[in-house]
Amino acid sequence: ATGATTSPAELLQRRGASFATVQEHYYDEPPRIERGWRHHLVSTDGRAYLDMVNNVTPLGHAHPRVERAVARQLRRLNTNSRFHYASVVEFTERLASLLPAPLDTVFLVNSGSEAVDLALRLAIGATGHHDVVALHEAYHGWTYASDAVSTSIADNPNALSSRPGWVHTVDSPNPYRGRLRGADAAGYAADAVRTVDELAASGRPAGAFVSESFYGNAGAVALPDGYLRQVYAAVRRHGGLAIADEIQVGYGRLGAWFWGFEQQDVVPDIVTVAKAMGNGHPLGAVITSRAVADRYRDQGYFFSSTGGSPVSSVAGLTVLDVLRDEDLQGNAVRVGGHLRDRLRALADRHALVGAVHGSGLYLGVELVRDRDTLEPAPEETAELCDRMLELGVVVQPTGDHLNVLKIKPPLCIDRPAADFFADALDRALTELTPHGPGR
Ligand code: PMP
Repeated sequence: ATGATTSPAELLQRRGASFATVQEHYYDEPPRIERGWRHHLVSTDGRAYLDMVNNVTPLGHAHPRVERAVARQLRRLNTNSRFHYASVVEFTERLASLLPAPLDTVFLVNSGSEAVDLALRLAIGATGHHDVVALHEAYHGWTYASDAVSTSIADNPNALSSRPGWVHTVDSPNPYRGRLRGADAAGYAADAVRTVDELAASGRPAGAFVSESFYGNAGAVALPDGYLRQVYAAVRRHGGLAIADEIQVGYGRLGAWFWGFEQQDVVPDIVTVAKAMGNGHPLGAVITSRAVADRYRDQGYFFSSTGGSPVSSVAGLTVLDVLRDEDLQGNAVRVGGHLRDRLRALADRHALVGAVHGSGLYLGVELVRDRDTLEPAPEETAELCDRMLELGVVVQPTGDHLNVLKIKPPLCIDRPAADFFADALDRALTELTPHGPGR
């Protein structure tokens, strides 16, 4: 066991020796975090940090109801879902009840990457079409297929030039930073529709269009109004299916909507969920219609040894119970709305704050050196994140330019903590070293 007296630096050195370093850690000199409680993380030197990044724990860290339910189930039984027990039935019923018709059939897996991988295979299996259309600046996972449709150059600088031939990408429909701005942003849908039509005309119609339903990886940016309606219609016209990746944005985080696709007023053919589902316990799901699920039967194999296990099902049910009982989606509306107002007020006093994107407790503070050219401010963003840690806040950048502070705390965060964050950011912005011409 790792001794409580091991220093963070010594432990970091050991981590570097055994843990694959493809996966970076946050911060050059990270605190050693061994405990969490609600929206706080506690380091071994006794410091509490406000956690503004953990969308995997929507109920907050160490929630006692999840702990009790999982511990009780581990004492009783944990096995695979080829066995017959109630919790997996109740969990799939509950998930299906959260989605509109015809999305009534659930596959249970253990992560977001697996969910996207399976969603793509279901679409290809059901349509017999092997080409897929994806957005720029997207992240969907690390498995072969989910990585293939991930285009974010922040994660992989060669992402756009290294996609396999079956992946076709369309321009980032980002109304703030994209080629088309403001009212013109509606034109993004026409761009994507053209790509979809051209693929079909070339004899390779898309089997699927995959995207986040709210542009999470780009910095919590809402897609232009009507975007998904037009693109989904084009894909379906040529026999393809629409996949909505709700892994970051779904499950109540947006406040006004439980699912991101509601904001776009569409119903996808396939929905992927993970992250929030298990409050940190590995859970993922793909939800589709019975017809799409059935067509996969003779197309491929599906069985997950731990997906839908009794422990996973109980964890998933308990998370949904607590989300409801503690009205955490309502909290995302209330605290998220207050936080957004506070952050927008910072834009009046700090030229670096170009925009505050997002909804509920899924917000993005985009930092630019010049509000006209929108020159991104990645160095300033990195410096702010380091300074925020000193001030007791964990926050990280996102987007292709790594210039958006992504705000996605546990949904239990309260108003005083939101104010603490806004005050700390105000202070860090005031103290920031000037970098570019706009400052
Ligand atoms: N899709 C989206 C939108 C994500 O944000 C992520 C995780 N960052 C994934 C898929 C992959 O999920 P996981 O890390 O659970 O495999």
